[in-house]
Amino acid sequence: MAAVGDRSGRRIAIIGGGFSGSLLALHLLRRCRPEDRIYLVERNQNFGRGLAYTTGNPNHLLNVRAGNMSAFPDQPDHFVRWLQNLPADQRAGIGEPNTATLGASTFVPRRVYGNYIQELLGDKIWREGQGHNFFLLTDEAVALHRDGKGLSLELAVGRRYPVDHVVLAVGNFPPTASTPGYFGDPWSSTCFEGLAPDAPVLMLGTGLTFIDTVLSLQDRGHTGKIYALSRRGLLPRVHAAVPAPWQYELPPSGRNLVKLLREVRGIARIAESAGVGWRAAIDGLRPHTQRLWQEMSLPERARFLRHLRPWWDAHRHRAAPRVMARIEQAIGSGQVELLKGRIGDMARLDDTSLVTINLRGDNGRREVIVDRVIDCSGPRSDATRLDQKLIQHLLASGQVRPDPLRLGLDVDRHGNVIDAEGNATPDLHAIGPITKGTFWEIIAVPDLRIACAALAERLL
Ligand SMILES: Cc1cc2nc3c(=O)[nH]c(=O)nc-3n(C[C@H](O)[C@H](O)[C@H](O)COP(=O)(O)OP(=O)(O)OC[C@H]3O[C@@H](n4cnc5c(N)ncnc54)[C@H](O)[C@@H]3O)c2cc1C
Repeated sequence: MAAVGDRSGRRIAIIGGGFSGSLLALHLLRRCRPEDRIYLVERNQNFGRGLAYTTGNPNHLLNVRAGNMSAFPDQPDHFVRWLQNLPADQRAGIGEPNTATLGASTFVPRRVYGNYIQELLGDKIWREGQGHNFFLLTDEAVALHRDGKGLSLELAVGRRYPVDHVVLAVGNFPPTASTPGYFGDPWSSTCFEGLAPDAPVLMLGTGLTFIDTVLSLQDRGHTGKIYALSRRGLLPRVHAAVPAPWQYELPPSGRNLVKLLREVRGIARIAESAGVGWRAAIDGLRPHTQRLWQEMSLPERARFLRHLRPWWDAHRHRAAPRVMARIEQAIGSGQVELLKGRIGDMARLDDTSLVTINLRGDNGRREVIVDRVIDCSGPRSDATRLDQKLIQHLLASGQVRPDPLRLGLDVDRHGNVIDAEGNATPDLHAIGPITKGTFWEIIAVPDLRIACAALAERLL
């Protein structure tokens, strides 16, 4: 192992060892010279998983088919081949029940996907012998210093690493802190501790996080009532049994949001009548979405977020059929009740909470008494409201600034971070969900894998 601070070769620190950080490390290892050093800093014990692929629940499935989850855009069937080559005992139970085939259209447990990413990076380091280039630092990055000698990265233990480039791959910002009766983090292991199986709960949000949380509760044997509240009560749509590809012959323009909406609706109608279905129109938009977002003016993007985002999210981020069938059954049986509105008030009564909900439109109010309110509205994105040492330090020192719509951090089109003065920083980069303000469609694997490959090429 090279000594910390040795000046030969290029030193790149990646902060965050979720999917984006780990895949970037892999791409860098593929390209680096023997004297280069790649530091992957991950505060959790596991790299390669992040928030999405840590779950141990086998019913928490990918919301993207296996055929579109390859880590490498130039080898689209890489993940499917990896699945098919798993030993028989590991393959069992991964696919749909009653189906022996494990193929491109399967929705597999997210944990399995984490295994895939870990194995790819592990193979590169240990089997292919690139350990001398790679340093996994299991700690939290807390500060980035600049002086006459260059950049140095500070970890929570107090150690500093001189580096040439830093990549922020800090991912999905965790949800809010909890207070009595209110659980801000549905992925936390303490979220369901001490909850009686028949206790009523209220979930805030009706998207994919809500679905995960309902499945987790049910899998623990929960029979109590589950109220689910969101402004419009929109549930994610379900994936089609068989995907149908669709090409846009005339890619639409993002310069006018109303016109764009009209056009996409028109294309969806055509797709419906052609028998491929509206989903193909949404999926076909994907190669154009980043361009459309960047063509939109700032006020148009803000309008999109205010009025269209819930509809976009519900149609774009769909749920696997097996998962959605369980949610529909829970709604049909009355265990899950969808409410449209906003919380008006919340009062604590001994061990329960009385929540007053202002129902949407002229539908008055509704009071529910629940043991727990669980925030299922998903990861946070406003960097200024985060209780994270590194982000707060970078903001306070002017090295980064939030993007204008508070979707993450401001970056240019190459992923170079923009500082408080508005200048792009050539040695500080960002990748993944925190770059949503610039790219919008940059939170899922099919887009992240392209961004990782491109950044690795630029860095080395
Ligand atoms: C519940 C959930 C399910 C999802 N399912 C899918 C799916 O099925 N298919 C799909 O394509 N996409 C899915 N996504 C989208 C997801 O954003 C991406 O697939 C991908 O996981 C993002 O990876 P990331 O590395 O950018 O972020 P993250 O996975 O959030 O990883 C960031 C990592 O950075 C670490 N970190 C942060 N700050 C520091 C610090 N200061 N020091 C050290 N370490 C730090 C964190 O501990 C974390 O491990 C899902 C997202 C969520 C939240």
